[in-house]
Amino acid sequence: MADRYLSFTGTAPGRFLTRRLGLPQPAPLRRWSPERPHLEGGLLHLTAGESDLDLAPVLARTGLGTDDVSGRPAAVVLDASGIRDVEGLAGVHAALHPVVRSVTASGRVVVLGAPLDAADHHQAAAQQALEGFTRSLGKEIGRGRTVNLVRLTDAAAAESTLRFLLSPRSAYVSGQVIEVGAPGPAAPHDRDHPLAGRTALVTGAARGIGEAVAETLARDGAKVVVLDVPQAEQDARRVAERLGGLALPLDVTAADAGARIADALPDGLDVLVHNAGVTRDRRLVNMPAERWTQVLEVNLASVLRTTDALLRAGTLRRGGRIVATASIAGIAGNAGQTNYGASKAGVVGLVRSLAPRALAEHGVTVNAVAPGFIETRMTAAVPLFIREAGRRMNSLAQGGLPADVAETTAWLAHPASAAVNGQVVRVCGQSLLGA
Ligand code: NAD
Repeated sequence: MADRYLSFTGTAPGRFLTRRLGLPQPAPLRRWSPERPHLEGGLLHLTAGESDLDLAPVLARTGLGTDDVSGRPAAVVLDASGIRDVEGLAGVHAALHPVVRSVTASGRVVVLGAPLDAADHHQAAAQQALEGFTRSLGKEIGRGRTVNLVRLTDAAAAESTLRFLLSPRSAYVSGQVIEVGAPGPAAPHDRDHPLAGRTALVTGAARGIGEAVAETLARDGAKVVVLDVPQAEQDARRVAERLGGLALPLDVTAADAGARIADALPDGLDVLVHNAGVTRDRRLVNMPAERWTQVLEVNLASVLRTTDALLRAGTLRRGGRIVATASIAGIAGNAGQTNYGASKAGVVGLVRSLAPRALAEHGVTVNAVAPGFIETRMTAAVPLFIREAGRRMNSLAQGGLPADVAETTAWLAHPASAAVNGQVVRVCGQSLLGA
């Protein structure tokens, strides 16, 4: 279902009218394409406080010019990791106040912070302040620009994250706080095809977001396995054929789903994307038990079962990646979705608990994407007014595309993202719900 309002505000009369009426002004987002893989313009690197981060070599590899920023910057990176007290926060204002206006449309502001120091409440207060700052600037900056915070201790470990956030691939990711841990073992990879030689399985990939994820992982060089219910086998085969992958018709709720995936992949698996999901909306007072159970089975119980089975069987190789799909409904809650909200919040719990153990015991990272309003068949079926609210009630004033979730998944699946673990990254244009 096309977003006609977005097209309308792109015309001169549309812009005039919606401005006069004080209506939202969504800017067309600049997304990744093979012809235009990088944002156009320079990168401005600013520092507030004393920083130990060795950022220059990492920023030099973002594809943005770091030498000449005499024009309007496409991105600003503010290294605020060294701020240890409230007084130091003045440096944030001093650095960004003069330059924010000049950042190009669809440009990026990335603030770098440090982990909160449990033994120093002044440092913790100042570093937590960066979170409120980031989320507030994200809400006011406009023109398709995004603002995110990365907490890190090592610049090289955060390279894949910074490259993602400073690129057009992160068009619909704003207001997020991402923690990057200690550097993992360096995994050799081809720069243009980072997943070459790796196998990725995406559940629910016959259509919608899952199809886009499979497409993006295949673009990055992975051999993809397109899993979907047997009823969707034809579509799954069509997708697999187009991407040079394999179709696997299977209901993820089958008790032996994990074993059947392991059997289908005797050479192992590198990337497991739990994307299959269903909604069966009703208010709790009207919800029969089977609607509750169906949603919890598909969205949560099967994710737990297959994850356990594939880790236990050793199908997921060391250096592997698990990316699960949560939802902002699991974070903010949503009327009519007690079953869905519970299932998606469960996914967040699974990720946070399993991530450190999976990394220590299996060398596998576990993260989640939490989509907001994404333009798919699922959301096209939503009644008009709720659909319009979903599209506009975020800082970018529009819905996201399946490709936005897919690019976020590809960053988490990247061989260089070993230090990104246990994160729940919302792909929601900074939705006002659950903000
Ligand atoms: P969709 O309905 O278009 O696609 C879901 C796919 O999962 C379908 O191909 C379906 O056949 C498959 N599937 C369902 N049950 C399955 C099962 N038991 N076994 C195997 N495959 C199964 O949905 P979508 O919009 O592409 O959503 C994908 C994921 O993103 C879901 O987990 C959804 O909850 C989540 N999500 C979507 C949005 C959105 O705005 N579209 C927002 C938040 C979260």
